[in-house]
Amino acid sequence: MGQIEVIQGDITALDVDAIVNAANSSLAGGGGVDGAIHRAAGSELLKECMLIAQKRSPDSPCPTGDAVITGAGKLPAKYVIHTVGPVWHGGSQGEPELLASCYRKCLLLAEEKGIKSIAFPNISTGVYGYPKDKAAQTAVASVRETLPQSPGIERVVFVCFDGENYSLYKKLILDYN
Ligand code: ADP
Repeated sequence: MGQIEVIQGDITALDVDAIVNAANSSLAGGGGVDGAIHRAAGSELLKECMLIAQKRSPDSPCPTGDAVITGAGKLPAKYVIHTVGPVWHGGSQGEPELLASCYRKCLLLAEEKGIKSIAFPNISTGVYGYPKDKAAQTAVASVRETLPQSPGIERVVFVCFDGENYSLYKKLILDYN
């Protein structure tokens, strides 16, 4: 089964098959990691996103919990998988299930595309306000549950931007390994 790793850093620099973007439903780019990915990838990425958006529902090209895949423009990665995490509303509006769905759908899409290595940011833990400890637990649990269904994936990297997330993930992965 695929190895799980944790690093602290900037996801745009990673030389993996696919990096995951914490996008918004419009797929039109935004702040945080989304902005960093679009800046580093160049305008080609937004063009691809807009083509997908046109083909899907105009109201919500990528609903919360869902994922779509594009090329990666000028990034070292080959693909970007755009997924939309839930906004935190206190936890009783399906947030854990939606967040788990983000990680699951990204891995299953990656498996379909023959991707062997994939890097995730800490989805929803920035502007969307999801408590970092709860998000980390859900993320690790969802990846662990999904890896047996994605046997082609050899390497999953959790890329933490801040120290708090890095400590949380380190502890969870140590407990897991
Ligand atoms: P969301 O709207 O899903 O909360 P954000 O982009 O605001 O998305 O934040 C998600 C996570 O991505 C946060 O933990 C934030 O610190 C992190 N982040 C921001 N920039 C980068 C980056 N360049 N590489 C990796 N993670 C990043």
